[in-house]
Amino acid sequence: MAEEPCQCSDCQRFYKEHDRLIREFPTFKEQQELNWASIQSFRTLCTKVTDELQRELSERESNDDINREEKHISDFEITEALDQLESVNAYLYSIEALMERIFDIKISNNIESKFKEIAKELAPDPLNVDRLILNRLFHQTPDYPDKNIN
Ligand SMILES: [Zn+2]
Repeated sequence: MAEEPCQCSDCQRFYKEHDRLIREFPTFKEQQELNWASIQSFRTLCTKVTDELQRELSERESNDDINREEKHISDFEITEALDQLESVNAYLYSIEALMERIFDIKISNNIESKFKEIAKELAPDPLNVDRLILNRLFHQTPDYPDKNIN
């Protein structure tokens, strides 16, 4: 018997998002593009924040009489964040290099059809009647989802 997946609000949000990404991007090509865009947007944002924090820190160093009340973020907080973001940017750079390899792969139309077919099975339309009935059954028997479905 399969173990019942965790139903806490974080996990439920994850399942919902996971299914949505399969439903809305059901082909290999769309998944490639989605993940590439996701890595790039994460990198762009992290890099921009890093630049801004560095600028702010060097401005403070060269300008000691800066109004203390304008310091919403402490120097320590900035230095710590810069260390963390430096690691994140290095990881993202590695992921990007791997994603580039994945991005090079092309898939035939017949195989793309298979992707669409499986995506429909994995993440059907959430408003589909069968899905709603199935969800209700799962909800009524959280410990043994298999037992009462004939
Ligand atoms: Zn959970």
